[in-house]
Formats: sequence, structure tokens, C-alpha cells
Amino acid sequence: MVDCIFCKIVAKDIPSELIYEDEQIVAFNDINPQAPVHILIIPKEHFASLNGIPEEKKDMLSHILFKARQIARNLGIDEKGYRIVLNTARDSGQEVFHIHFHLLGGRRMTWPPG
Ligand code: 5GP
Ligand code: ZN
Repeated sequence: MVDCIFCKIVAKDIPSELIYEDEQIVAFNDINPQAPVHILIIPKEHFASLNGIPEEKKDMLSHILFKARQIARNLGIDEKGYRIVLNTARDSGQEVFHIHFHLLGGRRMTWPPG
């Protein structure tokens, strides 16, 4: 999609620190990390948020979750723990309107989130 920063990352029009890529998804380091591990995992196909994902794409969502778990395992944070965040629409604080899962870890998290 034109003017979507994450579509530009998918197209490699703007650089990112790629962690993982396959035909469906891309994972890359967040530009403003909130934890020692802060990775964003996105579908290559543009959807503004979870609200816009059609049911026939639900396998892509589970694919992202399983890859998040694998990345956490590869980075050695799976046993200690990690957090996956999916901000959706204004009240959540979503700022980039290309759906993305945050994978956060490497420090103790607090609850409730801000
Ligand atoms: P949101 O608040 O929409 O859930 O999170 C957007 C995230 O995208 C933020 O954590 C922000 O730091 C990250 N971000 C925004 N622009 C870029 C960018 O150009 N490159 C990367 N790697 N991360 C970005
Ligand atoms: Zn996009």
C-alpha cells in the first residue's frame, strides 16, 4: 500500500534489521525498542489492523504466533518469558496502521500495561 511504512519495509524500500522472513510474514527489530528484545512481526499483505483481517486469513495469524514462539526460543527467552502485544485501533495506542505483533522480552514486564 502506498505510504505505508511497513509495506515499505516489506518491499525493502526502507531498511530494517530483519530477523525472519518467509513468503507470508516478516520480522524485524523495532526502531524504538521498549525491551532488550523488541521485534515486530507483520504479514507481507497490508491490513490496517486486526479489525480488517478476513476470516480466510486466520491461518496467517496463527502462523505469526508460532513464529513468534520460535523466535523467542531461538533467542533463549522462551523459558523466562516474553510478551506478545497486538495493539488494535486508537484506544490501544496503535500508531502504525499495518497490523503488527510486538514480541517483547529480555526483562521483567509489569502489569497492567499503560
Ligand atoms: P504501535 O503503537 O502501532 O503498536 O507500534 C508501532 C511500532 O512501530 C512502534 O513500536 C515503533 O517504534 C515502530 N516503528 C515505527 N516506525 C518504524 C520504522 O520505520 N521501522 C521500525 N523498525 N519500527 C518502526
Ligand atoms: Zn502496509
